[in-house]
Amino acid sequence: MKSPTQNLTILGSTGSIGVSTLDVVARHAEQFQVFALTANQRVVELAQQCQQFHPRYAVLGSEAAAEHLRSLVSNDVEVLWGESGLATVAAHAEVDTVMAAIVGAAGLLPTLAAVKAGKKILLANKEALVMAGQLFMDEVAQSKAILLPIDSEHNAIFQCLPADYSGREQAGVRRLLLSASGGPFRNTPLADMAAKTPDQACAHPNWVMGRKISVDSATMMNKGLELIEASWLFAVAASDIDIVIHPESIIHSLVEYRDGSVLAQLGNPDMRTPIAHALAWPQRMESGVSSLDLITIASLNFEAPDEQRFPALRLAREAAQSRGDAPAALNAANEVAVEAFLNEAIGFTDIAAVVDSVMQSWQRGEPRELAAVQEADRRARALACEVIAR
Ligand code: NAD
Ligand code: MG
Repeated sequence: MKSPTQNLTILGSTGSIGVSTLDVVARHAEQFQVFALTANQRVVELAQQCQQFHPRYAVLGSEAAAEHLRSLVSNDVEVLWGESGLATVAAHAEVDTVMAAIVGAAGLLPTLAAVKAGKKILLANKEALVMAGQLFMDEVAQSKAILLPIDSEHNAIFQCLPADYSGREQAGVRRLLLSASGGPFRNTPLADMAAKTPDQACAHPNWVMGRKISVDSATMMNKGLELIEASWLFAVAASDIDIVIHPESIIHSLVEYRDGSVLAQLGNPDMRTPIAHALAWPQRMESGVSSLDLITIASLNFEAPDEQRFPALRLAREAAQSRGDAPAALNAANEVAVEAFLNEAIGFTDIAAVVDSVMQSWQRGEPRELAAVQEADRRARALACEVIAR
């Protein structure tokens, strides 16, 4: 039976996940209609995507960028801009599926708009869930939105859990194991870490990604954010989630059951696999990813993460356990610190030091509404800027 066409909005279509999503979509033109594409500033790339995929809407970060795009695309594309433009295309009545692939806190409002509208949400933007955890999951429950993880680890866990999963105890799960590559500095002498440059931090051994998540992978804050993300997605306490370093990035994560069985999802490190999995779910479709060649890979390795090398892991675990607005503060401080590192205002090891300093002085609150999450985000950013200025 032919499945009906899905109308798709891609938030952050010019990014690494956005481009991989369009690559998969282009292989299944009969199944997907691109409804909206969005970018922050990359007008020329967005114009090219509009020419290829003919969306009804395109959204940019500023009025000037929107004006520029209008001069490059046909009148059939309605060009919007800013927060209201993103909310419009995330929640539009004709949209079935929203790929949430904006990086950072900027993705929170449009992703929540899609959740409130009860869409099928493909969640790459982990920061949105980290920031607003409880509120986000409450909205999902209320709107009956379908939330499918795109982060490769969470997508792997999702695939290893039963289809009717409703919680760790009921499913007989003992623990979740998040795999981590260890990033580009896994074996760097500790004394050399401080001098690492943005380009070195962004040269990930296994994955090609945007610069923010690449730096997060180098500090392993990415795994820390993923610990918090997994705890919300699967309703599992952080203490029941372990992190294992697996440098080959072939096993994307594992679920250990009460009887000792451990289920894992394997594949080549290519985000088109989780993207295609979620787009086709509960069916399966071609992604363009080549077959896994275990003979050539030959061996898979595992080691414990080193918390001295990667202090971000401890900071994230503490925020996960503290809950309230601590994860929002952690995320905001990290975004400011990563930005400062990418702009060469601070060194590599300063990133975790800035986050640590913000978390040490953090007055924890219990956010009951979105405004409180946004206030925590604003407050932690201001604190991080103060720490950097010192
Ligand atoms: P990227 O930097 O390549 O792309 C980010 C996208 O967001 C771009 O389209 C950009 O235009 C848009 N954007 C950035 N700032 C914006 C703003 N202020 N307002 C509106 N749009 C804005 O990032 P990426 O690597 O594609 O990552 C996207 C998200 O997916 C992140 O949350 C990341 O953690 C997550 N993720 C990425 C990967 C990966 O392999 N790249 C894997 C797992 C999870
Ligand atoms: Mg991941």
